[in-house]
Amino acid sequence: MPDSPQIAYGMTLDDWIEWMEERDQPKFRAKQVVEWLFEKRVSSFDEMTNLSRDLRDQLIGEFTIGLLPTVRLTGSQDTTRKFLFQLHDSRLIETVKIPANANFDGERSGRLTLCVSSQVGCAYDCKFCASGLAGFTRNLSAGEIVSQVMTAEHETGDKVRNIVFMGMGEPLANLTNLTRALTILNADWGMNLGARHMTVSTSGLAPQIEKLATIPMQIRLAISLHGATDGVRERIMPVNKKYSINRLFEALEVWFRHKKQMITFEYILIEGVNDSVEQAAILAKRVKSLHAKVNLIPYNTVEGLPWKRPDIPAQDAFLRVLSNANITATIRREKGHDIDAACGQLRLQEDEGLERPASSAQG
Ligand code: SF4
Repeated sequence: MPDSPQIAYGMTLDDWIEWMEERDQPKFRAKQVVEWLFEKRVSSFDEMTNLSRDLRDQLIGEFTIGLLPTVRLTGSQDTTRKFLFQLHDSRLIETVKIPANANFDGERSGRLTLCVSSQVGCAYDCKFCASGLAGFTRNLSAGEIVSQVMTAEHETGDKVRNIVFMGMGEPLANLTNLTRALTILNADWGMNLGARHMTVSTSGLAPQIEKLATIPMQIRLAISLHGATDGVRERIMPVNKKYSINRLFEALEVWFRHKKQMITFEYILIEGVNDSVEQAAILAKRVKSLHAKVNLIPYNTVEGLPWKRPDIPAQDAFLRVLSNANITATIRREKGHDIDAACGQLRLQEDEGLERPASSAQG
């Protein structure tokens, strides 16, 4: 069972069956509850009119539905929109809606993508990341993860087609709740989202990648690589001291053996740190050993951090090395779609009581 307070969206159908049985209720009541939640999309237990008054009162006493209060919403209907949601303990998390005409690779896809958070803050301290600046507070429950998707759909009236776990937090450091949330998002009684439309992005927690590889769902995997050698990667990603690039690639081979699907490498280009053609050549060699593609993301400046975006010729030179080695690689230049480079930024500003116009929000 999920953490207290219990969020109805975080319960699986089996949890509801157990809950009903403990109260001498027939099993089919469990099905009725999930229909009200995920099909009819009610926002209160009172609306579940085919349940008795007494049962509805018990539900009200034990659960919240899970729709999250929106503290701030930036962007407009046709652009990237950032939600700042408040949790029951007043903590803030970000969820980003990426418009239907672009996916998170910046390609045209015709599908609406939602970038969700998995933790409040993050302990992994990547040196280019706003979430790392805030430090780690806590894991999100499965209910809080599903709530982001349900609330975003509720607020915008749009149907989410793709989910990427690229918001605040390291999803694989919250593996149990992540797996439960994926189950609910994927289930036909739940949000019914195809597993292939859900991408988990990690900074490279090798043992957890191997564990996730064994779950029977064809979810996709993205790796925040950002360096092709241990020396470069360690400078900006302390996680590399624990799991070296060789160890990470061992885990990726395990992933590939189980899933037989393409892996995506995210590579934020930072001037003078990881953007040399030598790094590109080593990256090409590494990636070639796997069925994989590379998304290059020119760095988005984060206030308080020293890093810069390389100029366009340097970006192009990096891409050319990959293309010449026949690596599938794209560069994400559209402002507003490079969502992961600045994750946690909106929340930081809100925590510090700073105001800024919606138009200056980075993607
Ligand atoms: S990039 Fe990801 S893993 Fe690294 S600090 Fe930011 S949220 Fe955490």
